[in-house]
Amino acid sequence: MTSGTTQLCAVIGDPVSHSLSPQLFSAAFAACELDWTYVAFPVAAPDLAAALEGARALGIRGLSVTMPHKEKAAELCDELSPSAAALGAVNCVVVENSRLVGHNTDGDGLIDSLQTQFSFSPVGKNCVVIGAGGAGRSIALALGAAGAAQIGIVNRSAARAEMALALAGAQAVHFSNDDPRIREADLIVNATPVGMESVVDQSMPIDSSFLHSGQVIVDTVYRPLKTEFLHQAEKAGARFANGVPMLAMQAARQFELWTQTKAPRRQMLNAVTRFVAS
Ligand code: NAP
Repeated sequence: MTSGTTQLCAVIGDPVSHSLSPQLFSAAFAACELDWTYVAFPVAAPDLAAALEGARALGIRGLSVTMPHKEKAAELCDELSPSAAALGAVNCVVVENSRLVGHNTDGDGLIDSLQTQFSFSPVGKNCVVIGAGGAGRSIALALGAAGAAQIGIVNRSAARAEMALALAGAQAVHFSNDDPRIREADLIVNATPVGMESVVDQSMPIDSSFLHSGQVIVDTVYRPLKTEFLHQAEKAGARFANGVPMLAMQAARQFELWTQTKAPRRQMLNAVTRFVAS
């Protein structure tokens, strides 16, 4: 039940009508007994600046930013966190004393999910990230910051691979998708859409012969819940996860940035699992 003192957060994007964020965050606010609520605002690209000014004027406490606004919103914020500045993209805005502070929680969400699901820390580990778009770059940056020993970047186009390599730091190496060193990885993350229901021309981002039982395999895709990549990871005896835990954990980080309250991570993971499966 909202009141005259209810605090508001929202997702802005185009489209947003299918976003699971309103249910997810409203449930999380309720679980913590916070007088906060969350709605979805469809915002067309030409209206982004006005929408952000509106959020500031209305005292909206926080925004989730989704496609197609992540890069432009970074340009429009008053201040950026170090990761949002490095990536040039924000997925979360905190409105602090009328200032718009942009953050990017995707990469740290993946790191948190590795810890939660597998007690896996990237420190000193050999990691491979396939894909160098928004998700791949945020994961490369976070793995570098988290102390991975080596980060192999596999990407179709060289230009985007270079961007991910620069973000991951000195421990980053460019791998072709048939580089035998992929087999030495402790962690392999697919951050391409290969395996998604809508991508039918290809089923695997790398050859299944690179997968084995000593690895953790993550597919950032969550529709379907189990891609061919994860079927092959299971067959190889690897520990594996789909994109649901990352999605829940990056949202938990947004919750904490807005409310300064510890997020109900278990409930948020359960909620995302339920929504995605339905
Ligand atoms: P994006 O910015 O469009 O980047 C897509 C990346 O995948 C690019 O590096 C692209 O390579 C590569 N790629 C696309 N099609 C490919 C193909 N057929 N074969 C090989 N590589 C291909 O997209 P994004 O935002 O990073 O999202 C990527 C995936 O991550 C999506 O499936 C999305 O659902 C998922 N994701 C999950 C979460 C989560 O929380 N679970 C969060 C964000 C994204 P080029 O550079 O060569 O074009």
